[in-house]
Amino acid sequence: MSIALPTGIDGSSRSMIKVQSISFTEKSWSPLLRLDSKSRSLSVNKRSTICMSLQQASRSKVAVTPLELEYPKETPLNLYRPKEPYTATIVSVERIVGPQAPGETCHIVIDHDGNVPYWEGQSYGVIPPGENPKKPGAPHNVRLYSIASTRYGDSFDGKTASLCEKKILPGVCSNFLCNAKPGDKVKITGPSGKVMLLPEDDPKATHIMIATGTGVAPYRGYLRRMFMENVPNFKFDGLAWLFLGVANSDSLLYDEEFTGYLKDYPENFKYDKALSREEKNKKGGKMYVQDKIEEYSDEIFKLLDNGAHIYFCGLKGMMPGIQDTLKRVAEERGESWEQKLTQLRKNKQWHVEVY
Ligand code: NAP
Repeated sequence: MSIALPTGIDGSSRSMIKVQSISFTEKSWSPLLRLDSKSRSLSVNKRSTICMSLQQASRSKVAVTPLELEYPKETPLNLYRPKEPYTATIVSVERIVGPQAPGETCHIVIDHDGNVPYWEGQSYGVIPPGENPKKPGAPHNVRLYSIASTRYGDSFDGKTASLCEKKILPGVCSNFLCNAKPGDKVKITGPSGKVMLLPEDDPKATHIMIATGTGVAPYRGYLRRMFMENVPNFKFDGLAWLFLGVANSDSLLYDEEFTGYLKDYPENFKYDKALSREEKNKKGGKMYVQDKIEEYSDEIFKLLDNGAHIYFCGLKGMMPGIQDTLKRVAEERGESWEQKLTQLRKNKQWHVEVY
């Protein structure tokens, strides 16, 4: 038997550390304690959930609570506004990129104690402490972040939300978040946004997710909901296809979690990476997500024709390049991209959150 400890950023059950033999009368299961290895430590916080899973059932999922989060009357929206934000507490801040990554990207877990519920794909606003230099006496402006966890949070109890943030200079908010310590207070607003909500009406649907950098945040939430959590009313059995663009291998975000899904759900998950500073596109330039889209354009267009949802999250600057690529591919296929895009928007298949 194996014991899954869904803690830390991955909460995944990929890396294994042997513990003493546990024997059961009926089967000779191998005794493994599965840990999150990306964080390279067993950082069990007080909210950690321990769940048992059979080794044979590598697809076993984590129990979540409280299940009332599945059945709100409507999408949670703007429960806290900038004038009266909610004061939450930092649980952890963890650097999640390797030494060769240009810049520092952090995974930040925030405790809202169940008071700021949200759905996958929504955002929180963060108001960093201090005075707004442009408006003396007033607080800083709200900075929006896509939430990188499911509604149950990384500890599966509905009390936390996780953010993924790259430290930028002189970014007041990103520095505040990435330098925060457990126990620090953080003012949050929201949740906000409906564009990136995961449509769940058809569990067999296809979801094509395009991300640059920390734009991967909402997809981590979707994928945990699809593949990691045991959610009573969403039994995903469609196709999730993630395209992630980052600078180099050391900059990959949540890679271990995603690679784990590839192993456990090869029929339901595809994962393509564009490493701009490590790989070249066919013209000899930087490998960007749009180059990967071009590579798989036939398949992508077929999936879109069959009703797939496509999502874009990350750098605003990626959209012109992506649109050019899709337009070129459409024309090569004798189709009008403008018409196709209008149709995709009308059918609510096209979801964009870039800034
Ligand atoms: P980044 O590290 O600057 O870039 C990620 C990757 O995108 C790199 O490989 C970069 O390549 C590539 N890239 C640069 N320009 C591109 C273009 N025109 N087309 C396609 N790929 C391009 O990204 P980041 O710092 O993580 O920033 C992500 C962005 O997402 C920020 O603008 C942020 O505001 C936004 N965003 C964040 C969230 C969130 O929740 N954190 C949510 C939504 C949006 P090179 O650098 O090698 O050129």
